[in-house]
Amino acid sequence: MRLLLVEDDPLLGDGICVGLSQAGFVVDWVKDGLAAKLALETGDYALMVLDLGLPRLSGTELLKWLRGTGDNTPVLILTARDTVGDRVRGLDAGADDYLVKPFDLDELAARIRALLRRVGGRSTPLIVHGSVRVDPASRRVTQAGAVVDLSPKEFAVLLDLLENAGRALSRERLEQSIYGWGEEVESNAVEVHIHHLRKKLGAELIRTLRGVGYLIDKGS
Ligand code: CA
Repeated sequence: MRLLLVEDDPLLGDGICVGLSQAGFVVDWVKDGLAAKLALETGDYALMVLDLGLPRLSGTELLKWLRGTGDNTPVLILTARDTVGDRVRGLDAGADDYLVKPFDLDELAARIRALLRRVGGRSTPLIVHGSVRVDPASRRVTQAGAVVDLSPKEFAVLLDLLENAGRALSRERLEQSIYGWGEEVESNAVEVHIHHLRKKLGAELIRTLRGVGYLIDKGS
């Protein structure tokens, strides 16, 4: 799951990057509003964490622009204490949730999961598909009650496919979602993860659509 973090404070940004990576997210970090705009125009993000006080283009202006383009990417804004006005302007500009600094990194990760759940139309944290159960919070996967050990990348591929069940995802799309900027991507990395997932979870779960990508059917 690939997220965009927009935060100009180097220490805080670094801390958030580390915390969210440990929570299993891929994070692209930019430090001003214009860089964020460029990233949003070229990348495909599941969610944006947005500081409001930013150089070059404020978080609120960026948010207004984004919503003006019809983009519904969920946005969680970060605001300073004692700035109710900022928070209200941010929410009015189209933010979906907010956290007041200083905040706990575990809470940030939990809020992000909750937002992604809401966007995916799920009210329960568990994703159930046939005999496969996935808990995005603990990153625990079971099949018919037995725990299945997945690497972090395998988990990311599985989660992305499950959250988009019924829709084919291209290899490029999956690469984007599981690798951050500057991470070396082997040309057949996605194929290898899919291969391992099929070995661990059964060959029929993930279908290959030639020339299109990979698909998990909508199921119960
Ligand atoms: Ca700031």
